[in-house]
Parts: sequence; structure tokens; C-alpha cells
Amino acid sequence: MREATQAERQRFYSEEWKKEDLPVFILHTLSLREFAFDHKGKGPSDRYNQFMTPEELTDFLRNKSPYAVYGSVALYERPSKREKWLKSELVFDIDAKDLPMKSCDCTGGDVCEKCLNDARQVTASFADTLKSDLALKNIHFVYSGRGFHIRVADDSIMEMGQTERSQIVEYMTGSMIPPDLTMALGYSKVFRDRISRTFEQLSEEKLADSKIRKSLIKKITSEKEKVLSAARKGRFKEIKGLEGMGEKSFQKFLGFLTRLNSEFTDGKVTIDTKRILRLPSSLHSKVSRKCTLVRDIDNFSFEEAIPEFLREGG
Ligand SMILES: [Zn+2]
Repeated sequence: MREATQAERQRFYSEEWKKEDLPVFILHTLSLREFAFDHKGKGPSDRYNQFMTPEELTDFLRNKSPYAVYGSVALYERPSKREKWLKSELVFDIDAKDLPMKSCDCTGGDVCEKCLNDARQVTASFADTLKSDLALKNIHFVYSGRGFHIRVADDSIMEMGQTERSQIVEYMTGSMIPPDLTMALGYSKVFRDRISRTFEQLSEEKLADSKIRKSLIKKITSEKEKVLSAARKGRFKEIKGLEGMGEKSFQKFLGFLTRLNSEFTDGKVTIDTKRILRLPSSLHSKVSRKCTLVRDIDNFSFEEAIPEFLREGG
């Protein structure tokens, strides 16, 4: 992945980008959103923009070919002043570079198809829980170029404030230990699923960060299948009963997995009801990928996000 040149940005917005590429949920609320632009690759400093029609936005993009384009997750009566907040989508930001565990060796800000795929799987599992446990239906997925956004636009959640959104983050990620670990349904089950997934991907090396003593880490790792199966079924007595475990180390182990769970998404993004997010259909110039609305998260191909100027060997 490489940075797009100014000429490529111009080509993208004049020849490839069309207003019809905007997702319907944005098109229908366009004039109520704040738009922000990054013109020089140094962050979105041009804020407080409002467009009354998609044609106005089109003209702006053709003229300026910005480095990056963002739109607010919030709807305002007066978006050009960020005043009179009406409501806001519920969003989750799942960035491949920030995943606590990955199946690749990327470091720093790098991403590759493997960790993007890890992020895709996390996104799909969050969406399953949003549907099954919170009965949400109006769920949109966006490939950002470096990960995924989930954007939920159901009326039932759009007017929620920060406290409720932060409770939803805890629920979705499994970042709070439930009072009863063994219940068959509800949060207790979500929590067990999340810690199991986390533990399944956890290397012995990473488990060392838990500050559990080395001999016990070896034991937990060698009994991984047994521990996993017990965690999934809520039979925590079996885990506590491992040689050398006991209550104190068990709590440390559980606390460590819970903390890792919280790192699969950036909770600050979800609770911020005035956040701006990269606009689906726009160009992520840093990596030369289109920020793309994903229709089928389970079968999304990263190829779809490659702009024309790269397809021709540019
Ligand atoms: Zn990677």
C-alpha cells in the first residue's frame, strides 16, 4: 500500500467518484451532517462544512481533491456550527493495526491482508451480537482502508448519550467481568465467547504480559483445549482447579483476558456522539484505498477497495 499522489487524487474525484457511491443512509441525511476535510495529509483541519445537496459536495470534491474526507456520525440542525445536535449513529471502530492479537507480524502502523481479515472477523462477531442481543437491524459496515467501521442507525439507539453507549461497548467487547459467569444467555454468554476467542488467539509470549507466574503460564498453554472448552461452557471450576492456579491467579488470568477484550475496538470512538468518520466512497490517500461500504461482511474482498488508478499498474 502506498500514498496517492495529488494527480491521482484529482483523477479519482473527477473520473471515478460519483455521488451515487454514497451510502443511502448518508445520502438521506447529507444536509444534517458536518463534513470535514484534510487537504494536506495532516489531519482534518477544515471542519464545520455543510452541503445542502449531493451536487454541492460533488463540486467541492472535484475542485479540491482532498487528501481525506470525513462526515459526522451525528445529525445536527445546524451542522455548519455543530449546533443543535439531533441524534447520532452508534459506531464501532475496528482498526487492524490496533488489534491486541493478530495472525501476522505487522508492527507499528502497518496492516496486511491477514490482520485486515482478523478485523473483519471481529466486525462480523460484533454485528452478530448487535443483531441477536440488542435487536438492532439498521447495521452498516464500512471498510476504512485500515480496518472496519460498524455504523448503526436504528432509531432506538440514535438518541442515546455517552453513558449508555459506553455500556454497549462493555457488553459488545466483553470488557467487564459479569457477576455470574455461568448464565446460559445474555451478557454472561457474550463474555465467555469473547474471552474464549481472545484466549484461543493468545500466544504463550503474550500471556506472559498477564504477570501470572511462568510455570502456570506453561500449564495453561499446555492445557489450552481443556481451558477453552471449560471457558466456553462456563465451567470455571475446572480452570480454577488446574495445578497451581487457585482463586488469585484465576482472577488475574480472567482480568487479563477482559482487558485484552476491550482493545478490539476503540471505545472512545463509540461514546463520542460528535465524532467524524472517514466518508464511505472517499479515497484513503495514505494507503490508496477507497473507503468502501461493505454489503456482505462475510464475503468482502479487499480487491473492491482498489481505486482505478492502481488497477492499471500505477
Ligand atoms: Zn498484518
